[in-house]
Amino acid sequence: MASGRRPNLERRHRMTELRDQGYTFGEIGQMFGVTRQCVQRALNPAPRSRVVRVRCRECDCDINPAGAVPRDDRDVLCLSCLAQRPDAAFGEHLKAYRLAAGLKVVGLAEKAGVYASVISSYEHGRLGAPTWHLMTRLFQALGVRLAVDSHGPAEDGGVDEHRFDALMPTLQEAELLSVG
Ligand SMILES: [Zn+2]
Repeated sequence: MASGRRPNLERRHRMTELRDQGYTFGEIGQMFGVTRQCVQRALNPAPRSRVVRVRCRECDCDINPAGAVPRDDRDVLCLSCLAQRPDAAFGEHLKAYRLAAGLKVVGLAEKAGVYASVISSYEHGRLGAPTWHLMTRLFQALGVRLAVDSHGPAEDGGVDEHRFDALMPTLQEAELLSVG
């Protein structure tokens, strides 16, 4: 027989019964020849760790899970794949950089001083491209260094798709600094 510990469901079931009958962990342990801690662990297993695994939609590589939620798995691009997708929308960039930086939506919202719902709207494509001002604020909060920032804010300050296009070459070269 292969050695090693395998979960003994029958034993755990029996332990649960005894526990329900009012036996203490120590008493049950004596019956099974194990410590009371052992019984306690068997009956109250530690909750499974809630580490989220997030993989790139295209290359399947692992992405920093720190800022992610389970549904982000295979719903986001890693920065290398993103760099090969110049057609990707602003929201796609935002999310990829946010996850790479290990920030949750609320964390980024706090750092950038914008509403979390605004960030979500961009990431879900409900909003197109933001103003230059908002865009640089978001990327600065993400610790993304933009090679050029001489485009300046739009004169009217309004939403302008061209602003994002202007930023694109810069984003291709963007470099994610460590976010502290
Ligand atoms: Zn990838």
